[in-house]
Amino acid sequence: MSVTIAEFAGACFGVERALDIVLEQAEQKANVVTLGPLIHNPKVVADLDAKGVRVVKDPEDTDDATLIVRTHGVVPQIIDRARALGHDVVDATCPYVKKVHLAASRLKSEGYQVIIVGEGGHPEVEGIVGHAEGAWVVGSVAELEGKRLPKKVGVVVQTTQSQELLCEVVSYLCTHCENLKVINTICQATSERQAAAKKLASDCDCMVVIGGKNSANTTRLYEICLQSCTNTHHIETSDELRVEWFKGCNRIGITAGASTPQKHIQIVKSAIDNLVA
Ligand code: SF4
Repeated sequence: MSVTIAEFAGACFGVERALDIVLEQAEQKANVVTLGPLIHNPKVVADLDAKGVRVVKDPEDTDDATLIVRTHGVVPQIIDRARALGHDVVDATCPYVKKVHLAASRLKSEGYQVIIVGEGGHPEVEGIVGHAEGAWVVGSVAELEGKRLPKKVGVVVQTTQSQELLCEVVSYLCTHCENLKVINTICQATSERQAAAKKLASDCDCMVVIGGKNSANTTRLYEICLQSCTNTHHIETSDELRVEWFKGCNRIGITAGASTPQKHIQIVKSAIDNLVA
């Protein structure tokens, strides 16, 4: 029996960068807080809490803090409000998310109706909307059907969305609007992890997907793996592993969302190695 980690899995550039920023601030300053959980990974958030980094929901929830804006980004008004309250704002928004902000804002200023292909209510999507007021958020083609479309439509994408959904939405828009501009803002880290997970899952009889249950990109990896391997399981920590998942398996695959540190992947791999030994 072999246990293989997908070629691309786990913490991406944006998450590693944000973690480095927070840890550096926590070493130097007393009251360091993150505006919302830094990333969608409860284990990482708990580790930061143990180092004194608290999570606040709103800039008003703390005084005189070093306030970290997380990888997902926020609407610009929140940063303005935090600064007005006297906080030292440290922006850990992933540079790739910032690119989406810029793209959406440019499309709006060029007169396009901005469509964000993404999950309504997700913090990253809310942040993008904040940079292109009036943007529509579309999570499926069905949400566009029957809708009257303006002549100029500009599309950007939540960084963690699947290429398949973008293609479906764009193919619908191609036949329903006159002037369509598409800026594919899916992050390469996401595409690489999805492609590697799909390849590995098609070759395995059990897949373990590691990452926060509240993480959009991890849930997407789980769905992708499930399409090729029905024996797929989404876990946050090694405590959730069950020996019966691996009975009769020849090849076990592991992948992890972009918010899962590499050391967590190694912990899960060792736990599986022990369970099947
Ligand atoms: S998945 Fe991509 S966009 Fe999101 S934090 Fe990681 S590098 Fe940035």
